[in-house]
Amino acid sequence: MDYTNKIARQVGEVPRSGIRDFFELVQGRPDVISLGVGEPDFATPWNIREAAIYSLEKGNTSYTSNLGLLQLRKLISEYVGGFFKVDYEASNEVLITVGVSEAIDLALRALLNPGDEVIFHEPCYVSYSPSITMAYGDAVPVETFKQDNFSLKASTLEKVITSKSRVLMLNFPTNPTGATIGKEDLEEIAELCIKHDLMVISDEIYSELRYEKADHISIASLPGMKERTILLHGFSKAFAMTGFRLGYACAPQPIIEAMMKIHQYSMLCAPITSQAAAIEALQNGAESVEKMKASYHQRRDYMVKRLNEMGLPCHTPGGAFYVFPEISHLGLSSKEFALRLLDAKDVAAVPGDAFGKCGEGFLRCCYATSMDEIVVAMDRMEAFVSDLQSS
Ligand code: PLP
Repeated sequence: MDYTNKIARQVGEVPRSGIRDFFELVQGRPDVISLGVGEPDFATPWNIREAAIYSLEKGNTSYTSNLGLLQLRKLISEYVGGFFKVDYEASNEVLITVGVSEAIDLALRALLNPGDEVIFHEPCYVSYSPSITMAYGDAVPVETFKQDNFSLKASTLEKVITSKSRVLMLNFPTNPTGATIGKEDLEEIAELCIKHDLMVISDEIYSELRYEKADHISIASLPGMKERTILLHGFSKAFAMTGFRLGYACAPQPIIEAMMKIHQYSMLCAPITSQAAAIEALQNGAESVEKMKASYHQRRDYMVKRLNEMGLPCHTPGGAFYVFPEISHLGLSSKEFALRLLDAKDVAAVPGDAFGKCGEGFLRCCYATSMDEIVVAMDRMEAFVSDLQSS
């Protein structure tokens, strides 16, 4: 049977994730060191795992309220108030979701009518453009540049705003570049959002993983912005809880209500065991986050130094756990470079163009891998670059 016209058009249009395709190549190759998947190499801290086990032992295996456990929403409201400096009411301004992934989908579906334009900065997380398309929106990427350390400038953003622009998606610190954004730039962007009546979906999943002195600033905390921002955050990255699939959205009540309607019919609620683990994470997880962060910091510094020394220019990213070195001067496309590096040296990194056209000429290397493996991976990459240069 020909399924082409059986599959919804906007789903058929969407490409498969470039990261997943690439990593299928790595399956069954034990010698490969992967700098690929954006996932902490740490197991979830033991006290958090134990809280999940204990919750199961107590027989807590039911649905929760659609919004999520009130105890967890209260803790999230306190945490967000302290960390992001924005106050949200636990009873109706916080929604617990199945990862930030679900929250992105809900936010887009809650806000968009067909043909609405959504602006997002590229290179960006692979799900943004497909999620916009599948929510019947029009994806409008705005390029960020190496000379700005891939941060977003209001002047570039303003050029792509049209009468159809409805939503701006932000992600700082950024996957795949590790970019952060300063207060002044964020204020200028906020002004534009107010001027053009844009809603903002701010994916702040990496916000704890900042290595500069400057604190993380959420656009939601700027004057006039809480009312037009959906702040997304979750437990996957800082707490090393990817498999628990737990995230949350904070937004004004009518927006949470709209997102909750979709969530209640599609997901019902986030898993109760994961919610129990998240309660422990927020109550007693801060020390573990700091330890993991210190380790990422050390690995980032080492990787940036080695990449620059081997002739792959690379800015020092302020956050997340990715570096984004340039490879365009070596005469290979990102994909060719990554495939040849994998074949010749058993090192897997993701071609930059998987994160949007302007990622071409770069490579994403994730340093959420043990220091021992990073050292070997850098040695192998150095040999690869040297072979390329002498061939
Ligand atoms: N947003 C960004 C920017 C990400 O990098 C990722 C995962 O890599 C996600 C969202 C998905 O997070 P979650 O595991 O909470 O669904």
